[in-house]
Amino acid sequence: MRAYSSDALVLRTYRYGEADQIVVFLTEDRGKKRGVAKNATKSRRRFGGGLESLSRGQAAYVEHETRDLVRLDRIETRLSPFRAASGRDADAAAHVLGHAAYFAELLDEWAPDNAANERLFRLGAAVAEALCAGGSVDALARYFEYWLLRLEGVYPALDRCPRCGRASLAAGAVLVLAERMYVCVDCAHGGPALSANAMMFLREAGRLTPADVGSRAGDAAALGELERAHDRLIAMHLEKELRSARVVRELRPVS
Ligand SMILES: [Zn+2]
Repeated sequence: MRAYSSDALVLRTYRYGEADQIVVFLTEDRGKKRGVAKNATKSRRRFGGGLESLSRGQAAYVEHETRDLVRLDRIETRLSPFRAASGRDADAAAHVLGHAAYFAELLDEWAPDNAANERLFRLGAAVAEALCAGGSVDALARYFEYWLLRLEGVYPALDRCPRCGRASLAAGAVLVLAERMYVCVDCAHGGPALSANAMMFLREAGRLTPADVGSRAGDAAALGELERAHDRLIAMHLEKELRSARVVRELRPVS
């Protein structure tokens, strides 16, 4: 048996017996872990409001060589989307919490078990922080999707059209899903289209921090275009549609 203490993000939890919970969490230094939190539903002292998706805190856990599940003793929460959303009106709070669950589910899908991925952790932590600070939820979501796919090396190139070699896609592009690439409008035959504003968002996302992106309102139409393109890229990469992505869409106010 060996005890560890790590900066961690909670990805999800589920009930385990009467009062225990299984907690899936992403540690900064040792990757994704699954732990049993004894009496978690009752102990506010050890898990005080810290087990919601995308909460961040110092996790103390014990590993046993022969078991997959670790024993999660406590999480000292520093950041909680649940707390951050509590002061807002019901629709805004649901928007924040729905996205916290969506981001956490994406991290869960992306993160390998027991293998540290420091860049992924830093991305998740920075986006969680910007979300809690009240940043633009939709801009953060598109930013997060872009960087997840980019860290995996599967985000389409933005600098040129692979079909005709045109040296810029700044005027707009179309996603060719089967080949996982963006082509210029002249080379496209249908597919999700991205306007000049959407392409500008992507270029800026490459150099901005989540806090920067969250502080800008962003062009709603461009964010909608990116949502559709990213949705397909992610579904293709994961070979499924995420449950939380559907929930986020259904929660959106009808405009
Ligand atoms: Zn072209």
